[in-house]
Parts: sequence; structure tokens; C-alpha cells
Amino acid sequence: MAIDIIKVKRNVNMTFWERIYIPEILRGISITSRHFFINLVGFIPAILFGKKRKIFTVYYPEEKLKYPDAYRGRPILVIGDDGVEKCVACGLCERMCPAFCISIQPAETELDKERYPETFTIDQSRCIVCGFCEEVCPKEAILMSQDIEIADYDRSKMLYQKEDLLIPEKDLRTRQAYVREAFARWNY
Ligand code: SF4
Ligand code: SF4
Repeated sequence: MAIDIIKVKRNVNMTFWERIYIPEILRGISITSRHFFINLVGFIPAILFGKKRKIFTVYYPEEKLKYPDAYRGRPILVIGDDGVEKCVACGLCERMCPAFCISIQPAETELDKERYPETFTIDQSRCIVCGFCEEVCPKEAILMSQDIEIADYDRSKMLYQKEDLLIPEKDLRTRQAYVREAFARWNY
């Protein structure tokens, strides 16, 4: 994003009216008031007449921003294109998690991967969305999503089980591409 460079004018020669301050204070108050009232009622022409809105406030949750691919929301588990979760229950993410919020119960499977997570729980009330689990996973089985709507009054409802975490790989292509690009560049 291009950032305009603002040069500060030093040694400005003030006029008489600027020197007595009062008009400048009133001018400042009028500018602040103008912005205040525009922000207060500026949505009305947009809602009633469909005019382009001049204010920058995002009316969450009705309006939502598109986050960049690098954004880290809650971690999720990936279901591969073959319909099977990619996790092999190696336990690396569980071991790496600094908040100790991942809990995995591995089990054997007849599939090629030999092990799978019988249970996989993330305590989202403790997760600090650091992304270490995603970074350490050898199978691209856990990725950071763009879901940030996890707040709850009851901590027990923030325990996400495997069924709550699974998302098809086809819906995660952009994050997957970002992770491949980022981690390949760092060349761990
Ligand atoms: S994002 Fe960080 S805190 Fe959250 S589960 Fe992954 S490793 Fe743990
Ligand atoms: S999500 Fe990845 S790191 Fe965690 S247990 Fe599964 S395969 Fe291992």
C-alpha cells in the first residue's frame, strides 16, 4: 500500500488571527464536529438512497473486511481431496503448541497413513493463534483459517472437537498456497 509522505512545515509565519489562537481553536472544533456528525449520521444517505458512503467505519458484523491470505484466525484441520483428514496424529503440533491447547488421541488405521487422530481437540479459549501448529505440521493437515468469530460466554463451548475443525481442502487453496510460499522461502 502506498503511503503519502507528509512534510511538516517548520518556521511558519503565523498571521495575526493565528497568533491570537481563539479563531484557530474554533476552526479546530468545527472540523472535529463536522467529522463527528458525518460519522454519526453519514450512513443514512447510503441506506435510504443507496449513495456511496463517505465514512470509513465498518459496520461489523453486517459488514466484514476481507482479510489478507497471511491472516491467522482459528486453526482448522484439513480434509484432503480424497475425503480423508490429512492428519497422521504425529503429535508435533500438540508438542509445539505454546498454549498447550491441542489434545490428540491417536489410533491405528488400515489406510496408508497408518495412524489417524481418533480425537483431536483444540481449546480455543487458550489458543493464541500463533500459527506454530500450522508451521510445524509435516502434512499440511492443520491450517490457520480466517474465522475469528469464536468468542463465547462459556469456555466449555470453545472446546473444538475434530468434527468442528474439519474443512475440505478445496476451500483452503489460498491459505495452502500462502503457507507453501512462506515456509519454502524460509527454507526450514
Ligand atoms: S495457533 Fe498456536 S496456540 Fe493455537 S493451537 Fe496452534 S500452536 Fe497452539
Ligand atoms: S495436525 Fe499435523 S502436526 Fe498435528 S498431529 Fe496432525 S499431522 Fe501431526
